[in-house]
Amino acid sequence: IPVENIRNFSIIAHVDHGKSTLADRILEITGAIKKNVENKQVLDRLQVERERGITVKAQSASIIYNYKGTDYLLNLIDTPGHVDFSNEVSRSLAACQGVVLLVDANQGVQAQTVANFYLAFTQELAVIPVLNKIDLKNADPDGVAIQLQNLFGIDKKDVLKVSAKVGTGVAEVLHAVIERVPHPPANRLLPLQAILFDSWHDRFRGVFGLFYIANGKISVGDNIRWVNAQKEYQVKSLGVLTPEELPVSELAAGQVGFVTCNMRDRKDAIMGDTVVLTENPAEALPGLMKSKPMVFAGVYPLDQSQHPLLRSAIERLTLNDSAVSVIIDSSPALGQGWRLGFLGLLHLEVFSQRLEQEYGAHAILTTPNVTYKVVIKGSKNISALGGSELHISNPATFPDPNIITEMYEPIVKATIITPDTYLGSVLSLCMERRGQQETAVNIDNSRVLLKFTFPLSEIIVDFHDRLKSVSSGFASFDYEDAGYIPSNLVKIAILLNGIEVEELSSIVHSSRAVDLGKRMCHKLVEIVPRQQFQIAVQAKVGGKIIARDNIKPYRKDVTAKLYGGDVTRRMKLLKRQAEGKKKLRMIGNIALPRETFIEILKR
Ligand code: GDP
Ligand code: MG
Repeated sequence: IPVENIRNFSIIAHVDHGKSTLADRILEITGAIKKNVENKQVLDRLQVERERGITVKAQSASIIYNYKGTDYLLNLIDTPGHVDFSNEVSRSLAACQGVVLLVDANQGVQAQTVANFYLAFTQELAVIPVLNKIDLKNADPDGVAIQLQNLFGIDKKDVLKVSAKVGTGVAEVLHAVIERVPHPPANRLLPLQAILFDSWHDRFRGVFGLFYIANGKISVGDNIRWVNAQKEYQVKSLGVLTPEELPVSELAAGQVGFVTCNMRDRKDAIMGDTVVLTENPAEALPGLMKSKPMVFAGVYPLDQSQHPLLRSAIERLTLNDSAVSVIIDSSPALGQGWRLGFLGLLHLEVFSQRLEQEYGAHAILTTPNVTYKVVIKGSKNISALGGSELHISNPATFPDPNIITEMYEPIVKATIITPDTYLGSVLSLCMERRGQQETAVNIDNSRVLLKFTFPLSEIIVDFHDRLKSVSSGFASFDYEDAGYIPSNLVKIAILLNGIEVEELSSIVHSSRAVDLGKRMCHKLVEIVPRQQFQIAVQAKVGGKIIARDNIKPYRKDVTAKLYGGDVTRRMKLLKRQAEGKKKLRMIGNIALPRETFIEILKR
């Protein structure tokens, strides 16, 4: 297929606006998948994606579509929709010349619609605005078209209206892609330049790289060089995803496809790397932005006998998700483990769910936290040790406050869109989280777009859930990294029966310490099951107890009520109780449910 007949595009949308459903319909009308079988989000392959209804990994599909007598090759790249994964969105866009900007005609423009639009806009991609769910009786396509005009200057005559669920207007989306998205600016006569934007690992065939061929051609048997990785290989196989794997012997400029080349270590597949021919090397293309972990948590096996299992699961999962950073860590109560860095709390939760579902590894995750910076006395002079700052992403390593001279915490710039009916409660939530308002603009006669600066620590745990609940689900939220500001931080230590449990401690702004300490004690009373003895719960800052509570003793005998009688029922109950125990972690003689470490921070 000539370059002129290739279109590379993504669908970008706020979560739940119907990306995956539209992708399914597109695959159906192009014959890539059969109609009428259960086509539930074919591109959402992972179990967690189906359960949570979110896309975690970008997947691609190459399809042939005949339009006005000509065959076109359409490369559709599905992108994740959640804030935590916006780096995966921009990565996928590196292969595209256009995007379908999908907006729910019922909900209207949401925070991630705005973020996604600007991602595409700054990369100078063609934007095709599409309103979805017009089959719903509350859909207001005209009203939403006005929002698009006000926010992005989109002309309402360019806006398409579809129902991805029913299939209305889906063919017109493909026609618009063919007519409005430019063909790739690719030249097949130049030497090979291919840009890597995704990779995965196969036990038998090694690393797969998914790349976009910007110029030239690549064939099976070619000798290739991965410029940034500084490694050379021979091409073993090439193929396209339809979305099934389809082997080909050659890929030419403009195409999206995968390569295998006996690469064993996925660390060598650097996102944004350029692949060139060894014999006739072209220059490297500009790389992609690297994602930066923002939220850290310790990960430990439920008991040390599971350490090897968990280690191999983490190794395999991080090969699959290069946004996760890993260092080895240990803790007095939990033993040997790791400290992992994630893009956000959802990313962390998805990761732990995948550990369990895909690898059967049961892990304890400790209280998530952000990375603080502190300067300690005298350290300005020891620049040989890497400068004057300490980076603290584990509360256990927070230095003695007496030797700290400066403290900094990370902040983010947030975009919030809310109907003005909820403006009051949204603003008070933002204030409660130490938010600083920057701007507020009306995007139509009933919705407001707010820009706020927040300390990252205030939004990682439950801000999104709280925002949804104070706005009956209508407000939306997106954020980006905005550096560090000076701050006044303290460490809250939690004591159970007088013994400090490092894994429950956290670093907080001093103005929040008393409140949080009380809440953490209260939360522990709620989530830790009663045991045979009383447990005193205390929160301490410096030498001072700032909150206390008690977990009352209770002897739980689930079979007590069954007088003799039904033996099988009794056995069943005992078995269930034993299973419940497996999910508990002993800290000293106290059994903590393994969710304790994350739940303790939620309201
Ligand atoms: P994504 O998060 O953007 O991938 O959204 P999904 O494709 O998973 O869709 C989210 C929800 O909206 C699902 O329950 C879909 O069935 C539903 N949905 C998607 N498109 C339509 C549509 O055109 N009409 C209606 N009524 N529902 C839709
Ligand atoms: Mg989806």
